[in-house]
Amino acid sequence: MEEKNPVQELKDQLFSKKENIYAVADEEKCKTIFTYAEGYKAFLNLAKTERESVRCAIEAAKERGYSQYRLGEPLKAGGKYYYNNRNKNLYLFRIGTEDLQQHGMRILAAHIDSPRIDLKQIPLYEDSEMAFFKTHYYGGIKKYQWTALPLALHGVVVLRDGSTVDITVGERDEDPVFYINDLLPHLSQEQYTKPLSAAIPGEKLNILVGGIPVKDGGDNAIKLGVLKILHDLYGIVEDDFISAELSAVPAFKARDVGFDRAFIGAYGHDDRVCAYPAVTALLESVSDAHTVMAVLADKEEIGSDGSTGMQSMVFLDLINEIARAMGKNPAAVRAASKCLSADVNAAFDPNFADVYEKRNSAVISCGTTMSKYTGSRGKSSSNDADAEFVGFVSKLFRDHGVAFQTSELGKVDLGGGGTVAKFIASLNIDTVDLGVPVISMHAPYEVVSKADLYSTYEAFRAFIDG
Ligand code: MN
Ligand code: MN
Repeated sequence: MEEKNPVQELKDQLFSKKENIYAVADEEKCKTIFTYAEGYKAFLNLAKTERESVRCAIEAAKERGYSQYRLGEPLKAGGKYYYNNRNKNLYLFRIGTEDLQQHGMRILAAHIDSPRIDLKQIPLYEDSEMAFFKTHYYGGIKKYQWTALPLALHGVVVLRDGSTVDITVGERDEDPVFYINDLLPHLSQEQYTKPLSAAIPGEKLNILVGGIPVKDGGDNAIKLGVLKILHDLYGIVEDDFISAELSAVPAFKARDVGFDRAFIGAYGHDDRVCAYPAVTALLESVSDAHTVMAVLADKEEIGSDGSTGMQSMVFLDLINEIARAMGKNPAAVRAASKCLSADVNAAFDPNFADVYEKRNSAVISCGTTMSKYTGSRGKSSSNDADAEFVGFVSKLFRDHGVAFQTSELGKVDLGGGGTVAKFIASLNIDTVDLGVPVISMHAPYEVVSKADLYSTYEAFRAFIDG
């Protein structure tokens, strides 16, 4: 055997090292990574909205023996429960064997809402032989990316009789899709001079939905034709849009990206790419010591407000209920609890290298990435996790052989972002951000690495089993 150069030995001992997981994984590990990705892609194709994500997670949880819990009902040690908050926000939890007051809970919190195009409450109109829906976009989108794409419509409409109809159009091959018109290059001289942020104003994100008038229909005959179809199919009249939540999302399916299939392209990786490993880690967990909760939050993309967002009191109520059911003090349980705020981060992109600080950016395929702090311009609005907690989590990952890296979002003073971490931390729960690095975050089609997805799953397993 060749002797190691002492300087090299010292470097190996002292320097931090970031490695491409694909470069170091053996064949079997690569196979595991790819198999896990297939399950994730299937989930992505079924769950493009928070409601669909909740539905999928409940189905999977029921198969693993989880039963529905309603506030005020009794809870048992060893029990496995789900709490469905308005079909848009889900809490899966299992009560462990160890002392809850001493050890607290292990919480994984991801969000299941993604940027999209929502319909306004009075959406349908007709102009120049076309019918359109007026929209109000949801979350931080680059509006110019959402034109000239096939869109699918997902959501619910509460009819005047009080019944609810589910609508999904545009996902099956035989379905029609919808479309936001863009301007042809030939007439774009003026548009080209505008900044990207102003080139497509929000009020131009109108969705093309029809073009055949009702025979001898007079004014608004195309609008009438569209409404007649909606009435025949779903019983909808125009006023029912008032009590609807309908969203246009990209009609694309999740696909492998690259000749070697290293990556997955899909709509809504942010944050289903953390929600999926959070749920599967909990459901596949073999240890029963810790009390574990997986939170699938709604409304993160618009500030985590509302009854189904991370700031909803229901999160606190559930922890209180669990603590009291086990005869423990809720405040003490929270003080002993630990949380991974599971959300995506930006992957370093050499095409836009100037906005990143390379040494402190997540590199794709180098593993799940931990962010001690988020925020913008001077860590503003950030949960800056304690060194002690970051140390605890890092040790746990090292002890379990989890590949992870650490990063912040872009250069200081350039921009920034937030997650649900600060809302959980404010309840006196140790919290740090961890999740999958993403290319083209918030675009209609985002890209992640299968290796990072699986590394995030391994990190969650270590956190709840370790
Ligand atoms: Mn997110
Ligand atoms: Mn986001």
